[in-house]
Amino acid sequence: MDYSTRIFIILVISIQISHIYSQSIIQTPLENNRKTLIRDITDDDEIFCNSWKFTVETNDAGIWSRIPKRCVKFVGDYMLGIRYASDSDRVLDSSLSFARNVKIAGDGKDAWVFDIDETLLSNVPYYQLHGFGSGLFDEKSFDEWVDLAEAPALPASLKLFYELKHLGFKIILLTGRSEFQRGATEKNLLFAGYDDWEKLCLRDDSDIGKNATLYKSGRRQLAEEEGYRIHGNSGDQWSDLLGFARATRSFKLPNPMYYIA
Ligand SMILES: [Mg+2]
Repeated sequence: MDYSTRIFIILVISIQISHIYSQSIIQTPLENNRKTLIRDITDDDEIFCNSWKFTVETNDAGIWSRIPKRCVKFVGDYMLGIRYASDSDRVLDSSLSFARNVKIAGDGKDAWVFDIDETLLSNVPYYQLHGFGSGLFDEKSFDEWVDLAEAPALPASLKLFYELKHLGFKIILLTGRSEFQRGATEKNLLFAGYDDWEKLCLRDDSDIGKNATLYKSGRRQLAEEEGYRIHGNSGDQWSDLLGFARATRSFKLPNPMYYIA
Protein backbone atom coordinates (compact mmCIF):
# COMPACT_ATOMS: atom_id res chain seq x y z
CA MET A 1 0.00 0.00 0.00
CA ASP A 2 1.58 3.26 -1.09
CA TYR A 3 1.60 6.40 0.98
CA SER A 4 -1.28 8.21 -0.79
CA THR A 5 -3.59 5.14 -0.48
CA ARG A 6 -2.90 4.95 3.29
CA ILE A 7 -3.67 8.64 3.65
CA PHE A 8 -6.94 8.17 1.75
CA ILE A 9 -8.05 5.21 3.96
CA ILE A 10 -7.21 7.15 7.14
CA LEU A 11 -9.23 10.10 5.85
CA VAL A 12 -12.30 7.94 5.08
CA ILE A 13 -12.16 6.29 8.52
CA SER A 14 -11.80 9.70 10.18
CA ILE A 15 -14.87 11.02 8.37
CA GLN A 16 -16.94 7.96 9.40
CA ILE A 17 -15.89 8.26 13.05
CA SER A 18 -16.59 11.98 12.99
CA HIS A 19 -20.07 11.35 11.54
CA ILE A 20 -20.98 8.69 14.11
CA TYR A 21 -19.65 10.87 16.95
CA SER A 22 -21.50 13.96 15.77
CA GLN A 23 -24.75 11.97 15.48
CA SER A 24 -24.44 10.75 19.04
CA ILE A 25 -23.79 14.31 20.19
CA ILE A 26 -26.86 15.63 18.31
CA GLN A 27 -29.23 12.86 19.43
CA THR A 28 -28.57 13.25 23.11
CA PRO A 29 -29.76 16.84 23.42
CA LEU A 30 -32.72 16.09 21.13
CA GLU A 31 -33.86 13.29 23.43
CA ASN A 32 -33.37 15.56 26.41
CA ASN A 33 -35.33 18.33 24.70
CA ARG A 34 -38.20 15.95 23.97
CA LYS A 35 -38.40 14.88 27.61
CA THR A 36 -38.31 18.53 28.69
CA LEU A 37 -40.98 19.43 26.14
CA ILE A 38 -43.34 16.70 27.36
CA ARG A 39 -42.82 17.80 30.95
CA ASP A 40 -43.48 21.43 29.98
CA ILE A 41 -46.71 20.49 28.18
CA THR A 42 -48.16 18.65 31.16
CA ASP A 43 -47.15 21.53 33.41
CA ASP A 44 -48.71 24.17 31.18
CA ASP A 45 -52.20 25.16 32.38
CA GLU A 46 -53.32 26.48 29.00
CA ILE A 47 -52.52 23.21 27.22
CA PHE A 48 -53.80 21.01 30.06
CA CYS A 49 -57.09 22.93 30.26
CA ASN A 50 -57.57 22.90 26.51
CA SER A 51 -57.18 19.13 26.55
CA TRP A 52 -59.47 18.83 29.58
CA LYS A 53 -62.10 20.91 27.74
CA PHE A 54 -61.78 18.58 24.76
CA THR A 55 -62.73 15.62 26.99
CA VAL A 56 -65.69 17.60 28.33
CA GLU A 57 -67.06 18.53 24.91
CA THR A 58 -66.64 15.02 23.53
CA ASN A 59 -68.38 13.59 26.64
CA ASP A 60 -65.28 11.51 27.41
CA ALA A 61 -64.99 13.17 30.83
CA GLY A 62 -68.26 11.59 32.02
CA ILE A 63 -69.84 12.94 35.20
CA TRP A 64 -67.98 15.83 36.83
CA SER A 65 -69.09 18.44 39.37
CA ARG A 66 -66.61 21.29 39.14
CA ILE A 67 -63.90 22.47 36.81
CA PRO A 68 -60.27 21.82 37.77
CA LYS A 69 -58.94 24.63 39.98
CA ARG A 70 -56.05 25.26 37.59
CA CYS A 71 -58.57 25.90 34.78
CA VAL A 72 -60.60 28.74 36.35
CA LYS A 73 -58.71 31.43 34.43
CA PHE A 74 -58.74 29.35 31.25
CA VAL A 75 -62.52 28.81 31.38
CA GLY A 76 -63.12 32.47 32.24
CA ASP A 77 -60.96 33.65 29.37
CA TYR A 78 -62.71 31.21 27.03
CA MET A 79 -66.25 32.18 28.03
CA LEU A 80 -65.57 35.92 27.93
CA GLY A 81 -63.30 35.88 24.88
CA ILE A 82 -63.82 35.51 21.16
CA ARG A 83 -63.25 31.74 21.13
CA TYR A 84 -66.60 30.86 22.77
CA ALA A 85 -68.43 33.08 20.29
CA SER A 86 -66.45 31.61 17.40
CA ASP A 87 -67.08 28.00 18.46
CA SER A 88 -70.80 28.78 18.82
CA ASP A 89 -70.83 30.39 15.37
CA ARG A 90 -69.35 27.26 13.80
CA VAL A 91 -72.11 25.17 15.43
CA LEU A 92 -74.57 27.69 14.02
CA ASP A 93 -73.09 27.20 10.52
CA SER A 94 -73.44 23.41 10.77
CA SER A 95 -76.99 23.69 12.13
CA LEU A 96 -78.06 26.00 9.32
CA SER A 97 -76.42 23.87 6.62
CA PHE A 98 -78.49 20.94 7.79
CA ALA A 99 -81.70 22.95 8.33
CA ARG A 100 -81.63 24.43 4.82
CA ASN A 101 -81.72 20.94 3.35
CA VAL A 102 -84.73 19.77 5.36
CA LYS A 103 -87.87 19.50 3.29
CA ILE A 104 -90.55 21.44 5.15
CA ALA A 105 -93.94 19.78 4.71
CA GLY A 106 -95.91 22.91 5.46
CA ASP A 107 -98.26 21.22 7.92
CA GLY A 108 -96.76 23.03 10.92
CA LYS A 109 -95.15 19.88 12.34
CA ASP A 110 -91.52 20.28 11.26
CA ALA A 111 -89.84 21.09 14.56
CA TRP A 112 -86.53 22.10 16.07
CA VAL A 113 -85.86 21.67 19.80
CA PHE A 114 -83.81 24.17 21.78
CA ASP A 115 -82.49 23.92 25.30
CA ILE A 116 -82.47 27.26 27.15
CA ASP A 117 -79.56 27.75 29.59
CA GLU A 118 -76.21 28.15 27.77
CA THR A 119 -78.12 27.53 24.55
CA LEU A 120 -80.67 30.30 23.95
CA LEU A 121 -79.72 32.26 27.06
CA SER A 122 -76.23 32.87 28.41
CA ASN A 123 -75.71 32.76 32.16
CA VAL A 124 -72.10 33.90 31.85
CA PRO A 125 -72.84 37.07 33.92
CA TYR A 126 -73.91 34.76 36.78
CA TYR A 127 -71.01 32.31 36.43
CA GLN A 128 -68.54 35.18 36.17
CA LEU A 129 -69.48 35.99 39.78
CA HIS A 130 -69.36 32.31 40.81
CA GLY A 131 -65.95 31.13 39.64
CA PHE A 132 -67.01 29.84 36.22
CA GLY A 133 -68.06 26.49 37.65
CA SER A 134 -65.15 26.03 40.06
CA GLY A 135 -67.53 25.75 43.03
CA LEU A 136 -70.46 23.39 43.55
CA PHE A 137 -73.76 24.47 41.99
CA ASP A 138 -75.72 26.76 44.32
CA GLU A 139 -79.41 26.32 43.46
CA LYS A 140 -80.59 29.20 45.64
CA SER A 141 -78.37 31.87 44.10
CA PHE A 142 -78.99 30.53 40.59
CA ASP A 143 -82.78 30.66 41.10
CA GLU A 144 -82.40 34.29 42.22
CA TRP A 145 -80.49 34.96 39.00
CA VAL A 146 -83.26 33.27 36.97
CA ASP A 147 -85.86 35.48 38.70
CA LEU A 148 -84.01 38.58 37.52
CA ALA A 149 -84.80 37.47 33.93
CA GLU A 150 -81.85 39.43 32.56
CA ALA A 151 -79.71 36.73 30.96
CA PRO A 152 -78.59 37.86 27.50
CA ALA A 153 -79.07 35.79 24.35
CA LEU A 154 -76.30 33.65 22.94
CA PRO A 155 -75.88 35.58 19.65
CA ALA A 156 -75.37 32.47 17.50
CA SER A 157 -78.55 30.87 18.89
CA LEU A 158 -80.59 34.03 18.46
CA LYS A 159 -79.63 34.08 14.79
CA LEU A 160 -80.37 30.35 14.37
CA PHE A 161 -83.74 30.76 16.12
CA TYR A 162 -84.96 33.32 13.59
CA GLU A 163 -83.39 31.64 10.57
CA LEU A 164 -85.20 28.42 11.49
CA LYS A 165 -88.50 30.23 11.92
CA HIS A 166 -87.96 31.86 8.53
CA LEU A 167 -87.37 28.41 7.00
CA GLY A 168 -90.69 27.23 8.45
CA PHE A 169 -89.64 25.24 11.53
CA LYS A 170 -91.74 25.24 14.68
CA ILE A 171 -89.62 25.95 17.75
CA ILE A 172 -89.99 23.75 20.83
CA LEU A 173 -88.19 24.96 23.96
CA LEU A 174 -87.23 22.17 26.33
CA THR A 175 -85.53 23.21 29.56
CA GLY A 176 -84.48 21.65 32.84
CA ARG A 177 -85.96 24.66 34.63
CA SER A 178 -89.09 24.02 36.69
CA GLU A 179 -92.70 25.08 36.12
CA PHE A 180 -92.50 27.65 38.93
CA GLN A 181 -89.90 29.44 36.77
CA ARG A 182 -92.15 29.66 33.69
CA GLY A 183 -93.00 33.35 34.16
CA ALA A 184 -89.39 34.43 34.71
CA THR A 185 -88.21 32.24 31.83
CA GLU A 186 -90.73 33.68 29.37
CA LYS A 187 -89.89 37.19 30.54
CA ASN A 188 -86.17 36.54 30.07
CA LEU A 189 -86.63 35.02 26.60
CA LEU A 190 -88.56 38.10 25.47
CA PHE A 191 -85.96 40.36 27.11
CA ALA A 192 -83.21 38.56 25.15
CA GLY A 193 -85.05 38.97 21.84
CA TYR A 194 -86.82 35.60 21.38
CA ASP A 195 -90.45 35.55 20.39
CA ASP A 196 -93.20 33.37 19.00
CA TRP A 197 -92.05 29.87 19.99
CA GLU A 198 -94.42 26.93 19.53
CA LYS A 199 -94.22 25.57 23.08
CA LEU A 200 -92.15 25.87 26.23
CA CYS A 201 -91.65 22.65 28.23
CA LEU A 202 -90.48 22.84 31.86
CA ARG A 203 -90.15 20.19 34.55
CA ASP A 204 -93.40 19.54 36.41
CA ASP A 205 -94.15 17.37 39.45
CA SER A 206 -94.12 14.17 37.35
CA ASP A 207 -90.50 14.90 36.36
CA ILE A 208 -89.11 15.05 39.89
CA GLY A 209 -86.28 12.57 40.28
CA LYS A 210 -85.76 12.00 36.57
CA ASN A 211 -82.32 12.69 35.20
CA ALA A 212 -82.11 15.20 32.38
CA THR A 213 -81.69 12.63 29.61
CA LEU A 214 -84.81 10.72 30.67
CA TYR A 215 -86.90 13.87 31.25
CA LYS A 216 -85.94 15.44 27.92
CA SER A 217 -86.34 12.20 25.96
CA GLY A 218 -89.84 11.79 27.43
CA ARG A 219 -90.83 15.30 26.41
CA ARG A 220 -89.49 14.81 22.89
CA GLN A 221 -91.44 11.59 22.66
CA LEU A 222 -94.62 13.41 23.72
CA ALA A 223 -93.99 15.99 20.99
CA GLU A 224 -93.58 13.21 18.44
CA GLU A 225 -96.85 11.66 19.63
CA GLU A 226 -98.44 15.06 18.95
CA GLY A 227 -97.24 14.70 15.36
CA TYR A 228 -94.11 16.82 15.40
CA ARG A 229 -91.12 15.69 13.35
CA ILE A 230 -88.03 16.73 15.31
CA HIS A 231 -85.39 17.44 12.70
CA GLY A 232 -82.86 19.28 14.82
CA ASN A 233 -81.98 19.68 18.49
CA SER A 234 -79.60 22.28 19.94
CA GLY A 235 -78.18 22.03 23.47
CA ASP A 236 -75.04 22.62 25.50
CA GLN A 237 -75.31 19.30 27.40
CA TRP A 238 -75.16 15.78 26.04
CA SER A 239 -78.23 15.08 28.20
CA ASP A 240 -80.12 17.56 25.97
CA LEU A 241 -79.35 15.42 22.95
CA LEU A 242 -79.04 11.74 23.93
CA GLY A 243 -81.66 9.21 25.04
CA PHE A 244 -84.71 8.25 22.96
CA ALA A 245 -86.91 10.20 20.52
CA ARG A 246 -83.75 11.89 19.31
CA ALA A 247 -83.72 14.51 16.60
CA THR A 248 -82.49 13.60 13.14
CA ARG A 249 -79.45 15.79 13.87
CA SER A 250 -78.23 16.99 17.26
CA PHE A 251 -75.99 20.03 17.69
CA LYS A 252 -73.79 20.35 20.78
CA LEU A 253 -72.91 23.86 21.85
CA PRO A 254 -69.78 24.45 23.94
CA ASN A 255 -70.00 24.61 27.74
CA PRO A 256 -66.92 23.92 29.87
CA MET A 257 -68.52 25.43 33.04
CA TYR A 258 -70.78 22.62 34.25
CA TYR A 259 -72.12 19.16 33.51
CA ILE A 260 -75.72 17.98 33.77
CA ALA A 261 -76.35 14.21 33.69
MG1 LIG B 1 -78.38 24.07 28.89
